[in-house]
Amino acid sequence: MEISSVLQGGYQHPLSRSWQAKRTLTKSMLMYPIFITDDPDAHVEIPSLPGQARWGVNKIEEFLGPLVKKGLKSVILFGVPLKCEKDGKGTPADDPSGPVILAVKKIRELFPSVYIACDVCLCEYTSHGHCGILHADGTINSVPSAARIAEVALSYAQAGAHCVAPSDMMDGRIKAIKTALIGAGLGNKCTLMSYSAKFASSLYGPFRDAAGSAPSFGDRKCYQLPPTAKGLARRAIQRDVNEGADIIMVKPALPYLDIIADAAQIASDHPLACYQVSGEYAMVVAGARAGVYDLRTMAFETVESMIRAGCTLILTYFTPQFLDWLDE
Ligand SMILES: [Zn+2]
Repeated sequence: MEISSVLQGGYQHPLSRSWQAKRTLTKSMLMYPIFITDDPDAHVEIPSLPGQARWGVNKIEEFLGPLVKKGLKSVILFGVPLKCEKDGKGTPADDPSGPVILAVKKIRELFPSVYIACDVCLCEYTSHGHCGILHADGTINSVPSAARIAEVALSYAQAGAHCVAPSDMMDGRIKAIKTALIGAGLGNKCTLMSYSAKFASSLYGPFRDAAGSAPSFGDRKCYQLPPTAKGLARRAIQRDVNEGADIIMVKPALPYLDIIADAAQIASDHPLACYQVSGEYAMVVAGARAGVYDLRTMAFETVESMIRAGCTLILTYFTPQFLDWLDE
């Protein structure tokens, strides 16, 4: 055998196998997506998202307390308004008594060490269920959409969020949010994480059950990226870097590892996040339940593929389990 053919000597031991990774998963790389609803005492399981629930503000201590003890470092909040009056511009999104703003204040008070990101979008709060403000003909009206999203982001930052994360994919919203944060004296106090390359995916179904955010007509294909769109994703990432994003995100993760790898090149000086979305999580859980693989092994394999592609931050519903698994 040629000398250059022999590789196995380099990874024959569990420790030397571990040295083959450029970067390995740690607890600080995990951000846990949580659903906060407007019934303060709610704890409602979400059947399509096994193990996840919608929580009321009064239940946050019982929900997050044990996870913080295990080393939970960060969460991203999604508001699930079930009782509010929705309208064309998503007025309840920044209601000071709405679930997101109340939850930010509650988590800051209960768990000062936890880093709080807020998803920013209008679709949970608009009567039409779209992520922006619409023209009369139902198409997106970009300028007021970006302005309204910036208002909502600013209100979350003012409530104490460490990070605002617009998921709407409206043109111009990163610049609008960054400008609003700077104007309010929060430019140096709040991180702007952009869902830069967010694809129109079939993997969002369980999330829409959880958040009640399906559009009432049409779909989101005029703002979310086509799954085939590699070049467009690269342009969107570059645009958001230019407009002032502090962190770039790719969503979903597993079917878009090439886009993550591209983002790691294009935004090489930025932290890079990916969102292992609801359908990816449900798929991994369903496969394990069907006996296709071991849950823990597969969960690690998926997340490690994202890290290998270049991610430094993973939004995943597996966070509670990883906090246990990483201790073992
Ligand atoms: Zn939305």
